[in-house]
Amino acid sequence: MTQKWDIVIVGGGLAGYVAANYLSKTNLSIILLEKGKKGGGRARTNKMKEQYLNLGPHALYKKGKAKSILEDLGIHLQGRSPKLGGKFIENNIDYAAPLSPLAFFTTSLLNGKERMEWVAVLLKVLRIDPEKLAEQSYQQWVKQAAHSKKVESLLYILGRLSTYCHAPGRVSAKVMVSTLKNALGGVLYLDGGWQTIIDQLHNKAILSGVQIQSHTLVKQIDPALQGEFKLILANGEEIHSKYVICTSGPHELNEMLAEKGTPYLKNFLAQVTAVRGATLDVALTQLPNPKRLFAMGITDPLYYSVHSTYAHLSNDPKNAVLHVFKYHHSDDTIEGTSVKNELEQFLDKLQPGWQQYVITRRFIPTITVNQRLPQIGDELKLLRSKTEIPRLYIAGDWASPDSILADGAASSGKQAAEEILLNEMSENRANYERRLPTI
Ligand SMILES: Cc1cc2nc3c(=O)[nH]c(=O)nc-3n(C[C@H](O)[C@H](O)[C@H](O)COP(=O)(O)OP(=O)(O)OC[C@H]3O[C@@H](n4cnc5c(N)ncnc54)[C@H](O)[C@@H]3O)c2cc1C
Repeated sequence: MTQKWDIVIVGGGLAGYVAANYLSKTNLSIILLEKGKKGGGRARTNKMKEQYLNLGPHALYKKGKAKSILEDLGIHLQGRSPKLGGKFIENNIDYAAPLSPLAFFTTSLLNGKERMEWVAVLLKVLRIDPEKLAEQSYQQWVKQAAHSKKVESLLYILGRLSTYCHAPGRVSAKVMVSTLKNALGGVLYLDGGWQTIIDQLHNKAILSGVQIQSHTLVKQIDPALQGEFKLILANGEEIHSKYVICTSGPHELNEMLAEKGTPYLKNFLAQVTAVRGATLDVALTQLPNPKRLFAMGITDPLYYSVHSTYAHLSNDPKNAVLHVFKYHHSDDTIEGTSVKNELEQFLDKLQPGWQQYVITRRFIPTITVNQRLPQIGDELKLLRSKTEIPRLYIAGDWASPDSILADGAASSGKQAAEEILLNEMSENRANYERRLPTI
């Protein structure tokens, strides 16, 4: 029997669950279809040998949209903020990272003049209106904002750290700087990992009547036939609905639409490039060097942080859960073995002998961190979740005009829900007015 719903949400990641929770406050019938065994998408956490491993390092921005949207939905966010500090490393030499007030004045990375310049640039970032940077790449902005090469390189490090984007010449300064501003407002590492967000969203959605179906791959979205979408699943079943919110990646959406997409939409979806990286997620019985908690490469695009120092990620408080990460450039050709060696060698420098203490580890040579490298002008194409195909809406970390990562996923999920509700209201009003007697 063909199932019929008011709304089908394709994808059970952050965007899909946020949309489902906002829509569940109405009397519309909603089904969320997820191809995976469980929901969560890239926000899932795997419990491996009693250790909670996020898919790579995950930090929630305290000033970002995701946090306020999740709190608005009643999601409890428990965790702690890492202390500012750690090391920046170049050519095997490590320097105090000038991120804390003490390190501003003591780090040997900067000379006196560079210190003053760095403090002035950080104050500038805090005050700047990112809207004014809409026409510039991040690289162009950095070259204007910094005079010295050292301060330039610090802005590139902070850019990578806060956005995961490693293509300064291609990315929009507006999105980079607004995300950087959010990151400077502090982050949270979450107890139990990001799965705790997903589990709460999942339970709330179910309690409000949303139907959630995992192990369900949508193969085809056939736009409104007589006002109804036809979705074809991998097992051949069909689902019909009035609205669809698609939260898959842009290329997957293109495939699902096949020849039914409009040329403009298909073209846009095809040219979206992802932000990628490699991650080494490790749990140790102890840290060989307990003082080393955070480090970044200065020219090497590498990251290291011990998340369990601030969040409960293991049942044994002596254990350490850490992430080592490489930011891939969009033009990189990735060779798994050499990336793995690079990440392990970075960890060797920071935690010599770590291999003796391994409880569990996972290496992923290429993972999509954000489905869209935010480029100049993208925002104009993404102002609305509504697409050219009537009643097809998009959400996901690529689908927000001005945010990326979890902030982009959550805000676009909320926006798609709100646009559907507005559409319903205007259709209901039009139907009501049509039924009014005329004089
Ligand atoms: C290594 C790494 C580090 C990160 N660090 C941070 C961070 O520090 N801070 C931050 O804010 N964000 C971070 N992120 C980004 C954040 O995890 C994502 O932006 C967010 O989880 C994306 O949510 P989403 O719903 O847009 O997409 P996804 O999580 O990808 O969800 C989409 C879902 O749709 C499903 N799907 C796709 N196609 C179909 C189909 N045809 N049929 C059915 N189901 C389908 C997928 O299985 C998936 O579950 C990081 C991501 C990674 C990978």
